[in-house]
Amino acid sequence: MKVTCPHCQEKMSPKDIKSINKNSIYVEKQCPSCDGWFSLNKRLTKIKTLGMTLLLITSLLNIFGIKSEYSIVFSSIGLVGVLVALLITFIGKNEKVDKPSQ
Ligand SMILES: [Zn+2]
Repeated sequence: MKVTCPHCQEKMSPKDIKSINKNSIYVEKQCPSCDGWFSLNKRLTKIKTLGMTLLLITSLLNIFGIKSEYSIVFSSIGLVGVLVALLITFIGKNEKVDKPSQ
């Protein structure tokens, strides 16, 4: 799959990418022709993180038995979070490069 740089519109194949920064929550890649950094699927990563956070919170609430009369509700919300995360992961493989936000 060819990747298009959002800065210089140069097309590159993933093996041409100079370096990858995995330190941030988004995986950032450096363009070989203009040295600009860009990341794929930034918007989707946000939604995915939200889904996983939702699952984490509801799981914790269930584990510690907080408001246990609502545990079915928490479990349902957590399930939705997982489904969203899975869906986003699947969609993310087909998403185009986001335009730089700055
Ligand atoms: Zn570029």
